[in-house]
Amino acid sequence: MIERAPHSMPKETGWIEVIAGCMFSGKTEELIRRLRRAKIAKQNVKIFKPQIDTRYSTSDIVSHSEQSLPSILIDDIKEVLKYSDDAEVIGIDEAQFFTSDIVDVCNTLANKGKRVIVAGLDQDYRGIPFEPMPQLLAIAEYITKTLAICVECGNPADKTQRKTTTSERVVVGAADIYEARCRKCHYIPKES
Ligand code: ZN
Repeated sequence: MIERAPHSMPKETGWIEVIAGCMFSGKTEELIRRLRRAKIAKQNVKIFKPQIDTRYSTSDIVSHSEQSLPSILIDDIKEVLKYSDDAEVIGIDEAQFFTSDIVDVCNTLANKGKRVIVAGLDQDYRGIPFEPMPQLLAIAEYITKTLAICVECGNPADKTQRKTTTSERVVVGAADIYEARCRKCHYIPKES
């Protein structure tokens, strides 16, 4: 999607890329791939993720396939502005865990000429749009929707099935609690 011929890439301006999808769809892998390529090109890259996501590592962004890049853990998305003065490319993972301030932060960075790449879950375990992802999708120049494969039937999957009965919106976990499902096979778990 963003792999364009150099002449069609934006010049002398920043922009926002959003990578959205369900769990196990390769969002973080895709984010890491783009950031790595920028690093190889000797661009100054900064990577941020929310304090809440400490599943695999406390200071790296790590995909389920165990690729990683060193990242800065933050509580408040506005902290990105403090750390990003010298950055040319800014990656933000797990965007669904930040407040809607992320919209202003991403616009501010892009308006300063930076390339901003944001990855996040676009729906919660019930299939409801997960703020602030819808707002980010609206302001992005480039959008990639990553699909997983349905564990039940093999169809392309864009929903995250929770295998426990808790009704909290945020329960951090991986394959033990969640799996990818298509529209046909996804259901909302009954609350216990
Ligand atoms: Zn299915």
